[in-house]
Amino acid sequence: MNTFERLESEVRGYCRSFPAVFSSAKGAWMTDTSGERYLDFFAGAGVLNYGHNPDGIKQALLNYLMRDGITHTLDMYSEAKQHFIERFQQVILEPRGLSYKFQFPGPTGTNAVEAALKLARKVTGREQAVGFTNAFHGMTLGALAVTGNSFKRAGAGVPLGHSASVPFDGYLGQDVDTLDYFEAMLHDGGSGMDKPAAVIVETVQAEGGVNVASNDWLRRLRQITTEHGIVLIVDDIQVGCGRTGAFFSFEEAGIVPDIITLSKSLSGYGLPLALVLIKPELDQWAPGEHNGTFRGHCPAFVTGAAALKFWEDGQLQQTVARSGRLVQQHLEKMIAKRVPCARLRGRGLIWGVEFSDSTLATRVSKACFARGLIIETAGIDDQVLKILPSLTITEEELRQGLEVIDASLCAVLSGVDELPSEEACALAEAA
Ligand SMILES: *Cc1c(COP(=O)(O)O)cnc(C)c1O
Repeated sequence: MNTFERLESEVRGYCRSFPAVFSSAKGAWMTDTSGERYLDFFAGAGVLNYGHNPDGIKQALLNYLMRDGITHTLDMYSEAKQHFIERFQQVILEPRGLSYKFQFPGPTGTNAVEAALKLARKVTGREQAVGFTNAFHGMTLGALAVTGNSFKRAGAGVPLGHSASVPFDGYLGQDVDTLDYFEAMLHDGGSGMDKPAAVIVETVQAEGGVNVASNDWLRRLRQITTEHGIVLIVDDIQVGCGRTGAFFSFEEAGIVPDIITLSKSLSGYGLPLALVLIKPELDQWAPGEHNGTFRGHCPAFVTGAAALKFWEDGQLQQTVARSGRLVQQHLEKMIAKRVPCARLRGRGLIWGVEFSDSTLATRVSKACFARGLIIETAGIDDQVLKILPSLTITEEELRQGLEVIDASLCAVLSGVDELPSEEACALAEAA
């Protein structure tokens, strides 16, 4: 038994799928203590959109630390926070014609979600928050109440309330517009649904199985929430910061949310940082009404500001589109050849392969790890293989990882997960 198995709580999770002890990382590669290298197709669940330890951002952090830049201020003003706000305003919000106030809650995604839900309730004077089937918004009670996963919900140990779940886009099949249902519930006094304070939505449900909402569906959701005076919260914690191409995942749909939550890749370096963007008229907080000790960590403001360099031109967005197409084409071919019943979903550089045999994704992920590729599963039964590399990954690295997925799938299909890649593929083709 290693130190972790002996002393770390049973609650530990990802380390069970990837049981190496990591010591260093650069770009798309992670290295463990025995010197083994792993290609990273997981990117810290979307924390590392710019890769591990990107040079420009690292240098900004080192300069700040070396000059004894202040590390902690609670939420007192700091030069680092000022610079981050001004840069975000100038590089992200102004060019998109967006106007929001900045709230820095505690540095995790779930804290941003809690703040957003609290504020929507306060502003509307209503209690109910509507989430969607298979949604994931975090592990604290408010966020859990709008999260779909019954196992995670049960972990709360108390009833989760003041929330309702409605079907996400595609939940009832491609022919049903699930918003017909939601809209009917809102209009009908006999529906049993209290008028909600907020609707919280992910444009792509990443943890929930890479379920992609269509632009039309998102536009209609915006329309319905506006019509009923419901606060629309877009949780862009995992698929914002360029994951789908544009900085915000909802840009393509042309909608403007009332509140946006960001975290994961916001600091650009893996340092904890979360942000709630609030339409100015909704900023009805009283001073200190939602607070916390670590609200805006100065080193994270420094790296977050440095990361905005990626957004001064359209280059990264084009790279994401190109890389996304490459992944899509490769996976389409792989599916057609080996698992024709599997389904492929995604946008930008987040893709999911849903296998008809729900055990396959986990076995493929395991076989990939044995071949030096880190790749996670998603969905309620872990039935979806989730492709989530850094946005800065090179084409060659992408191809390399995709080939490992192919070889691992072959090995799993031929029932000999440990077989060398070429032999496994020959077997799978013969079968
Ligand atoms: C990860 C995630 C969260 C929760 O963030 P934590 O930092 O783990 O609290 C919330 N919403 C979405 C969409 C996420 O992917």
